[in-house]
Order: sequence, then C-alpha cells, then structure tokens
Amino acid sequence: MKKFAVIGNPINHSISPRLHNLALKAFNLKGFYSRLNLLNSNQLLNSIDELNLDAVNITIPYKNVAFLYSDFQDNLCKNIGSANTLIKKNSKFYAYNTDILGFLKAIENYSFKTALIIGAGGSVKALAYGLNLQGKSVDILNKSIKSEDFFVQNFYTYENFKLKNYDLIINATPNGLINSDLPAPNGIILPLLQNAKFSFDLIYGLQTPFLELSKKLNLIIQDGSNMLLFQAAYAFNLFYDNEFKFEDIVNVMKPVFSLKR
Ligand code: NDP
Repeated sequence: MKKFAVIGNPINHSISPRLHNLALKAFNLKGFYSRLNLLNSNQLLNSIDELNLDAVNITIPYKNVAFLYSDFQDNLCKNIGSANTLIKKNSKFYAYNTDILGFLKAIENYSFKTALIIGAGGSVKALAYGLNLQGKSVDILNKSIKSEDFFVQNFYTYENFKLKNYDLIINATPNGLINSDLPAPNGIILPLLQNAKFSFDLIYGLQTPFLELSKKLNLIIQDGSNMLLFQAAYAFNLFYDNEFKFEDIVNVMKPVFSLKR
C-alpha cells in the first residue's frame, strides 16, 4: 500500500487528493492520497516520516523549504529553488518541480515570442525560468518591488512600467479569485490585452475578469486547470517511476474538473 499526501497551509481547497485518488482507482493501485495542513515548516520532513508517506506534493507556503530540506534535487528544481513534489527513497528525499512542466505543457501549442507575467509570487520564478529556457523573452510586472528574486532589468512595478507589446499575458496574482479586480490598473492592462494574442490565468475553474476582458478582445484564453492537471499527472508519474502513460493519467484525472467544488 503506497501512501501520498498534499502538504500546505491552508490545504482544504486543494483538489490534488481528488485527482490522485481517481488515478489510483482507475489503475487499480493499492494506495491512497490524503491532505495535511502543516503549521510549521520545520516539521515538513518529520511529518512525512511519521505518517510513513512514500511521496508528497507541496503547496503554498512550503515549496521553498521543500527544496531546501531535500537531499537531492533535479535540475529544474535547482534552477528554480522550489519544489512541489518530494519522493522518499531509502530514507532520502528527492525533490522535483512539476508545476513548471504542467505550465509549459498547457501552453505547448501557443506560438509566441514575448510574455509578460503579472505578479511575482512563489509561482513566478518557475514560470519565468521555464519560459526563458524555451527562448522566450519574459518581463515581470508586480505591485511591489521584489528585485531580490528576479533579474532587475526584466522586473517592473506599475510606477516604472513602460507599455510595450507582448504576445502572451499571464495573471499570476490572486486577483479574480479573492476579488473581482483585474491583475493591474486599467490604464496598463487594457492596452496590454489589446495588443496581445494569448492570455493565461493561473487561477483555475473561474472565468475571471482578466479572462473575460481578454475574451472580449478576441484573445485566445486559458485558465489554470490544465496546468494543475498536468502537474499532477507528472507528479503521479514520478510516484510510479513512469509506469503509466502520461496521456492515460491525464485522461483518468480530467473528470475532476467537471465535479462540483
Ligand atoms: P503568491 O501569494 O506567492 O503571490 C501573489 C502575487 O500576487 C504577489 O506578487 C503579490 O504582489 C500579487 N498580488 C497579491 N494581491 C494583489 C492585488 N490585490 N493586486 C495585484 N497584485 C497582487 O501566489 P503564487 O505565485 O503562489 O500563486 C499566484 C496565483 O496562481 C494564485 O491565485 C494561485 O492560486 C495560482 N496558482 C495556480 C496554479 C495552477 O496549477 N493552476 C499553481 C500555482 C499557483 P506582492 O508581491 O506585491 O505582494
């Protein structure tokens, strides 16, 4: 019997247990996937040991500590500095970042050269790194300065941002989820969207004001559902040493998104 969990704080909203339990059932595997609300980051590895978990997914706010506490990290993880998947093998913790794989898979059919990411939180370093790796030109726009985390020449706040054209605009702020605001002030976001081809919102399962406006302006739009689905399928493959076809995992997990949240 294999045991898995998603660890974070808060954790009640997470649909990872549904995604993974559906796959465990579909492939007739002996195992279960639970969720753990962890109050103290120092307890991350202890908790995994105490609960005898084989592998875990990590969410807000522990992705950085998961990376730091792990024994081995794959190259993506090393370059991004955060991990969303930990696998325990022979008492050692191996760290991976499948968020970025999920994001890149979600936009694999988009033909574009330039992107603007709005927001500069935990997910953005990974997105910027992944896009750079694919040779895209990436700028970041945030409401406050976070230059310590990013290359200063590509980082802007509302105050020093100069409008230019981007093919892809990404909302990596919680705006649209926690409120009905656009991710940046009207005077900035409107001309950006008027000149873009694609818009991507990391928020999933909601037609946010950002996506609504993008749709009105005839952009190709996408919410964060596929990114979430694909990161889970990549993680599941890591749990089971690539025993299953990625597409098969995706297909068995996908129905979760038509269930009521
Ligand atoms: P963080 O909380 O780490 O960062 C949030 C960012 O948004 C910060 O840069 C913050 O700015 C900015 N922000 C917060 N409030 C506002 C506001 N009112 N107006 C403008 N900007 C604001 O979040 P994450 O990077 O971890 O996640 C971002 C979003 O992506 C979340 O909605 C999350 O649910 C979603 N997500 C989706 C995933 C998926 O698989 N689909 C995976 C990961 C995340 P400041 O720095 O100034 O505080």
